[in-house]
Amino acid sequence: MKKISLLLLLITSFISAQDKDQKVILITLDGLRWQELFTGADEKLVANKEYVANPEGLKRMFWKETSEERRTALFPFVWNFVAESGQIHGNRNVGSKVNLTNTMWFSYPGYNEILTGAADDVNIKSNDKIYNPNITILELLNNTADFKNKVAAFGSWDVFPFIINDERSGIPVNAGFRNAEGDLTEKEEFLNQLQTEIPSPWGSVRLDAFTHHYAKEYIQKEHPKVVYISYGETDDFAHDGHYEAYLKSAHTTDSFIKDLWEFVQADPFYKDNTTFIITTDHGRGTTPLKTWRSHGRDIKGADEVWLIAFGANVNTLGEVKHDEQLYSNQIAPTILNILNTKIDTKTMKGADLKITNP
Ligand SMILES: [Zn+2]
Repeated sequence: MKKISLLLLLITSFISAQDKDQKVILITLDGLRWQELFTGADEKLVANKEYVANPEGLKRMFWKETSEERRTALFPFVWNFVAESGQIHGNRNVGSKVNLTNTMWFSYPGYNEILTGAADDVNIKSNDKIYNPNITILELLNNTADFKNKVAAFGSWDVFPFIINDERSGIPVNAGFRNAEGDLTEKEEFLNQLQTEIPSPWGSVRLDAFTHHYAKEYIQKEHPKVVYISYGETDDFAHDGHYEAYLKSAHTTDSFIKDLWEFVQADPFYKDNTTFIITTDHGRGTTPLKTWRSHGRDIKGADEVWLIAFGANVNTLGEVKHDEQLYSNQIAPTILNILNTKIDTKTMKGADLKITNP
């Protein structure tokens, strides 16, 4: 009898210790097409003088004979590491589809859907700086005892404080051109200085290196359990019609993700208990060719997105090559379940993706 209860005690404490240890890093790449993720540099764009200043140089970097070689050249971490250990959904050429459920097909509605688990085409129909009336999973988590003050968000776009409603949620959101605050490390002080000295090409979006290094430094220092990082360059370079910069930025973001993964696996707080989920807020067009620059409800295919998961407890599926239909509104309930929370997900319209094996 005594032995059995001791065993039970051991088992239950093991399970609850595991529950408490689980961390999630959610990452988005703004408006990165599934076409580049799964087939690499686009044949019609990579040497197109209208969109590329130095076609020979760009081809040397990213043009290869097969689409498998091209995508690996563009996203080496995803196609070498994640393809072996995680899941990659959204290659429509082989039947795997991921779509938005909102009908707007631009950023605020996309991020709202990802972060709240439900499209809201009534209230979220512009990119205006309006405090989100909906509650994100970041806020839901921050309101629980287990995750209080253990949630943080970083973004290149200056609308994120509104999407995450930092005033109401109390979640620290370092986005747009915001500096790091509080007790600063040397690196954060330097980033704050550089941010005033290196001009961004855009008025409302900073360069992703700032977002990445602010996030990494904060993670190292504060050890949040749930982190959201939104990289933004890919969308803005695409709007600008700079295919070269769009590809190079996508390639750099792949290296940022690798950098975070290597950091996480070297830190005892995160090692082997952190799940990465990566997606995008919308797609872009393909035909006519010029619509690669655009998105929104009038652009065919701009609701076509993709989803990557790897890290702790993620079932190894590799690139999914069978027919399936996933939706962006499934991501939020999936994250809450990965974190083993008791948060009610009924207001979320999508089903748990069940990407992990507890
Ligand atoms: Zn855009």
